Amino acid sequence: MVELKTESELAVMREAGRVVARALHTVRDAARPGVSLLELDTIAAQVILDAGAVSSFLNYHPRFAPTPFPGVICASVNDVIVHGIPDGYRLRDGDLVSIDCGACLDGFHGDSAISFTIGPPTEADATLIKHANEALDAAIDTARAGGRLGDVSAAVGRIGRAAGYGIPQGFGGHGVGRRMHEEPSVPNEGQPNRGFPLRPGLVIAIEPMFMAGGHDHFTTDPDGWALRTSDGSRAAHVEHTVAVTESGPVVLTAP
Ligand code: MG
Ligand code: MG
Repeated sequence: MVELKTESELAVMREAGRVVARALHTVRDAARPGVSLLELDTIAAQVILDAGAVSSFLNYHPRFAPTPFPGVICASVNDVIVHGIPDGYRLRDGDLVSIDCGACLDGFHGDSAISFTIGPPTEADATLIKHANEALDAAIDTARAGGRLGDVSAAVGRIGRAAGYGIPQGFGGHGVGRRMHEEPSVPNEGQPNRGFPLRPGLVIAIEPMFMAGGHDHFTTDPDGWALRTSDGSRAAHVEHTVAVTESGPVVLTAP
């Protein structure tokens, strides 16, 4: 069932979103060669703790995973698309990093992700990240009352496919609220004018995932979490939690 949020609930969700934005900003600032993914996880955990919030990710245990998630961020490097478990890997110049973070404040979640490189990007990485962000922006712009969920999905897919990227099937955005993952699911491809009607109070996470190699195939690591491109090409993932309101889309996880 899709739960529409009241204005006061959206105000709480905006605060949860701010905490996530702060955590991502702090992690990005700290990410440089030699810093480990576990160190980034600790940094994000401290921001969430200082805000009086709780990690949405730590110990999260969806049906597809064999074990609860052990971190407060997903740290997905290079050919890892999403759900990378933060470990002792130390960042190197040129790595393409996606950091995904969620926090729960006063009972409501925020969920957001950024992609960036360590040091200057190659042209291919810069373009991949740019297209992922453009897809996110275009999809956010369709999140308007009177539209349909297919408009959001179509906006993501159109930009990814036009650029020749692969899109992992079965993973994408979702409703957000008292649970991090709620109905409806928000695929990264779809048909405009189809699907769930967008109404004020609907809150969705929109999260383009693009694979540079152009294939849709991916594998799951033995840890049961990290999704990796089958061809070894790099992937970018960006995400915002967005509310549909009477006055247009509101990005709840904006800084
Ligand atoms: Mg996320
Ligand atoms: Mg999400």
